[in-house]
Amino acid sequence: MANALVTGGAGYIGSHTCLELLQAGHSVTVLDNLCNSSQESLKRVQSLAGRALDLVQGDIRDFDLLRRLLDSRGSKQPAFDAVVHFAGLKAVGESVAQPLAYFDNNVLGTVCLLRAMAEAAVKILVFSSSATVYGDPASVPISEEFPRSATNPYGASKLMIEDMLEDLYRSDPTWRIGRLRYFNPVGAHASGLIGEDPQGAPNNLMPYVSQVAIGQRECLQVFGGDYPTPDGTGVRDYIHVVDLAKGHLAALRSLSQAEAGTGQLLTVNLGTGVGVSVLQLVKAFEQACGRVIPYRVVARRPGDVAACYANPHLAKTLLGWQAQRSLADMCADAWRWQVQNPQGYRLVSTPAPSTGATQ
Ligand code: NAD
Ligand code: UDP
Repeated sequence: MANALVTGGAGYIGSHTCLELLQAGHSVTVLDNLCNSSQESLKRVQSLAGRALDLVQGDIRDFDLLRRLLDSRGSKQPAFDAVVHFAGLKAVGESVAQPLAYFDNNVLGTVCLLRAMAEAAVKILVFSSSATVYGDPASVPISEEFPRSATNPYGASKLMIEDMLEDLYRSDPTWRIGRLRYFNPVGAHASGLIGEDPQGAPNNLMPYVSQVAIGQRECLQVFGGDYPTPDGTGVRDYIHVVDLAKGHLAALRSLSQAEAGTGQLLTVNLGTGVGVSVLQLVKAFEQACGRVIPYRVVARRPGDVAACYANPHLAKTLLGWQAQRSLADMCADAWRWQVQNPQGYRLVSTPAPSTGATQ
């Protein structure tokens, strides 16, 4: 049983991971400035888990706060066994318009966190990297040793952090660091109580489709119908957010089990290994919600790649982790979340979990 500090734990992936951590018996403290989330997600996490967590509302760039938080208060044991680091900004288009905000939040924020961790001798870290570090891959499926490149400031911030973590590990090989490269996280917890809550028009496909299905938006724009893919639309590796959350527990387990005094730098893809096109996803969502999703094929979105999906084998070999949930599960769970929370977390009362939901 571990004591985990989860930065960005109130957000989409963080909240699902907090739930898995609590359900596995770990203690959880969330550090989140709530710039893209609300406390309501964590209230629901606690009600689903039947256990409490601590929320510290604050910023990862606040070194004094981190110092106080990580301070072991005179005890020989560090205050936390591990840090799971989700906090960051993630909108690609916004990063092009405001690169400095992205380098400040993501890169400087991580430097600040790592300095405080080093000072407190908390040296186990799981970091949210992204398939975006593969840039425009020469081929698919993508393995971890593929060349990396950035096509926008958001991707550049992830590359810089990955490099920083590698340098840190080389300077002190007692660190145990997991760099988890997520493919496309979608879906929601099967209870319908926690899910993705985009502010304004969603940038990502699945939440957009879901808002079209419920009638909040008129029509999906399919960005490009002339890619060299089976149906001409972009292909991605969609992974259920609960599978992704479980991947973090597997990484933590692996890092914690390393022999005393030895470190580890673990870099793995977290994906399903299955490529799904935009039109395939639309069809699967139509089946899940029983409605027609109107769509129109328009020009390609600048910066998009034709196909991006993982070779997921390394995660299976090293972590014993593999995605379990199907595309139908992802759509059904995203739809349940959408129907139960048409305004996301901007609702005063907590809806009851739907019957038969599994956790
Ligand atoms: P999210 O925006 O829902 O969650 C991020 C959380 O971090 C939010 O709760 C936000 O309030 C908090 N935060 C941001 N800056 C902060 C700061 N300076 N101090 C404290 N808290 C801060 O995003 P998510 O989808 O849950 O993504 C989590 C992580 O995974 C991010 O680092 C993101 O880049 C990465 N990632 C996400 C995706 C995706 O498609 N969702 C894909 C690959 C990687
Ligand atoms: N996409 C689309 N319409 C949208 C949003 C996305 O056609 O409104 C396409 C996009 O071009 C890509 C796929 O859906 O081929 C996944 O896009 P998303 O932004 O969700 O993920 P990413 O491109 O970051 O992998």
